[in-house]
Amino acid sequence: MNYISTRGQAPALGFGAAMMTGLARDGGLYVPETVPVMTADEIAALAGLPYEEVAFRVMRPFLGGFFADDEFRGLIAAAYRGFDHAARAPMVQLSANHFLLELFHGPTLAFKDFAMQIIGQMMQAALAKSGERITIVGATSGDTGSAAIEAFRGLANVDVFILFPQGRVSDVQRRQMTTPVEANVHALAIDGDFDDAQARLKDMFNDFAFRDRVRLAGVNSINWARVLAQVVYYFTAATALGAPHRSVSFTVPTGNFGDVFAGYIARLMGLPIDRLVIATNQNDILHRAMTTGEYRTDGVKPSISPSMDIQVSSNFERALFLALGGDGAAVTALMAGLKQSGGFTLPAPALAALRAVLDSGRCSEDETRATIARTLAATGELLCPHSAVAVKVAEEHLGASPMVTLATAHPAKFPDAVQAASGLRPALPPHMAGLFDRPERMTLVPNDLTALETLILERTGL
Ligand SMILES: *Cc1c(COP(=O)(O)O)cnc(C)c1O
Repeated sequence: MNYISTRGQAPALGFGAAMMTGLARDGGLYVPETVPVMTADEIAALAGLPYEEVAFRVMRPFLGGFFADDEFRGLIAAAYRGFDHAARAPMVQLSANHFLLELFHGPTLAFKDFAMQIIGQMMQAALAKSGERITIVGATSGDTGSAAIEAFRGLANVDVFILFPQGRVSDVQRRQMTTPVEANVHALAIDGDFDDAQARLKDMFNDFAFRDRVRLAGVNSINWARVLAQVVYYFTAATALGAPHRSVSFTVPTGNFGDVFAGYIARLMGLPIDRLVIATNQNDILHRAMTTGEYRTDGVKPSISPSMDIQVSSNFERALFLALGGDGAAVTALMAGLKQSGGFTLPAPALAALRAVLDSGRCSEDETRATIARTLAATGELLCPHSAVAVKVAEEHLGASPMVTLATAHPAKFPDAVQAASGLRPALPPHMAGLFDRPERMTLVPNDLTALETLILERTGL
């Protein structure tokens, strides 16, 4: 199993190297050269299995033997042990044909734990074999950071630096990143928005001297292994609702396009996904791109669903590459246009290929609040603002197939917004009691590559 870059100019890598490398050296993202297909019988056999077993069967074909089967099973078991629900990704029903997939039962209360916990296990296992030390740098709109810190805190051979946009994450999100006491955890508040943080991260990867000196590794969804781990819950949800004997649709609250791209991969693997619906908040570049064919950045407007306050959706490049038939030169040209003039026009055949699978919708701030209140009254389910964005868009796309909406965070991560919308203040679960009593530790950093690199070199002593 080889991984190739979306820009066509970097060497193909095996699974382990693609995971440790993150961004390809030509600036592209790694994608599998071919997507393994599961037969209908193999998919049918997943129904009713424990989450861990489904994870093993779905992910294993992508590993190319990088981990032995027993070792991989052990890593999966360790990854999901800390979840507080036996099903890991349970579903509840919202209306006759509409289901909510609760992805917030992991240690940091957002779906990022599904991928970060297993990546943490896999990277540790790989480092133990190679004896290497790495520096992880991650950009976060709020939830990736805490999930990464949770997965890597206290490890001897890893330093983890997290860049988050200052003042643009919720208090709970910030405290999850700033209160861990381990010396290998570095929370950096950047003077900018998430797109700035992600752009500086990509700049670091493109500075080969720095990248090699600190052995830079990435855990953003530019890392293929993260996307892969998220493919699993599309299979558990769809088979629980009757796949492969009937098709199922999904609506995904979207920012960096990693989660919805995992659904795209599940479909390529043979899972009968009818419609895959992109739900955006007022930062609606993806909805505009799907409806008009123009992918054009427009400045981030802070919202009550901050983890989706993104304009440059990294993983869209992967979908584009597949929709362009694997033409790395064409992707490179479009990305150059994005960098130079803030946008590009989707070639008509690529747009048609994307529209064959993807729908989209947008949810305003008022609609988000109204959906939280309405869903609570109708079902008793208290949604986080991101999940509410998706529920509203999903309701506009209900059809013959069951609709599964991904609930990406626990409402207690956004207590102020949820209380303002519903009148209820969601409580943090017991394992997070005391979050507001612990001292915070963070460093303010400018939106400047040299300053960031200097700080990382000082902290790591490399
Ligand atoms: C990260 C995140 C999203 C967006 O997911 P992408 O993979 O970036 O599209 C949505 N909701 C929450 C709560 C998140 O943390």
